[in-house]
Amino acid sequence: MAAYRKRNLVTHYDLCIVGAGLIGSAAARHATLAAPRLKVCLIGPKEPKDRHQCKHGIFGAHYDEGRITRLFDKDRIWAELSKRSIERYNEIEVKSGKYYLKVGHGKQYERELRTPEEVSDWYKTEGDKNALKPLLDGLFQFVRGVTPVSTQGDCCVTTHTPTCYPYCDMITPLLGIIVGGNGYAAKSADEIGRMGARMIIAGKWDHDLPQQRFKAKFKVDKNRPVSRL
Ligand SMILES: Cc1cc2nc3c(=O)[nH]c(=O)nc-3n(C[C@H](O)[C@H](O)[C@H](O)COP(=O)(O)OP(=O)(O)OC[C@H]3O[C@@H](n4cnc5c(N)ncnc54)[C@H](O)[C@@H]3O)c2cc1C
Repeated sequence: MAAYRKRNLVTHYDLCIVGAGLIGSAAARHATLAAPRLKVCLIGPKEPKDRHQCKHGIFGAHYDEGRITRLFDKDRIWAELSKRSIERYNEIEVKSGKYYLKVGHGKQYERELRTPEEVSDWYKTEGDKNALKPLLDGLFQFVRGVTPVSTQGDCCVTTHTPTCYPYCDMITPLLGIIVGGNGYAAKSADEIGRMGARMIIAGKWDHDLPQQRFKAKFKVDKNRPVSRL
């Protein structure tokens, strides 16, 4: 619970969600749907005008005009998360009147970034310039008869957990986390957010998918401070 003070007004919240990205926004939406009386606060910066020059450093992973969205997946859990989310897209869609075609890439353009500085520097670029032409050529080999109004390449960073699933877990009786999209979570964010909202309202696991898959794993560190929450 948090309090927000403006002049002499103090508002108390029952639930504060930090990070107004894809999963945080979905968690706030589902918390409000599941418990309309709950006072929910969603905290996070607005999308900057120039996301490559964000003054806070890295803005987030959720900017992008188009997303690769698919039902099938060789992993049953990820397939289920995207299926349930896609079924609810009509509840949240905003029509812009524009159409975007997005193409992703394979391992040939990927590399590991090891430090926050490396990630931050990469985020200020518009991606690998050598990748754009071969990817567009490949796309329009399959999608015929379409003349794009414009084309654009951009950079991307994905975070991966050792389990290959997002961590959705209670850390203390009052604090929960949902992190680690593994590069898949845009299309599946609505169900992941719902899973987190149900967990934080119940204070424990409250979802039909197996809890074990979403348990957070921590590095063993004897000097790690213990939370008093
Ligand atoms: C360029 C790009 C393309 C992608 N394409 C696809 C795709 O096609 N299909 C797909 O399924 N997935 C895709 N992904 C992955 C997907 O976007 C992520 O898995 C998803 O956004 C993760 O959601 P999230 O809420 O965890 O993080 P984010 O969406 O990054 O949201 C985190 C939010 O937290 C905020 N924040 C950070 N620190 C703080 C703080 N201290 N206080 C308050 N707020 C804070 C950030 O500003 C941000 O708004 C892509 C990712 C990128 C970067």
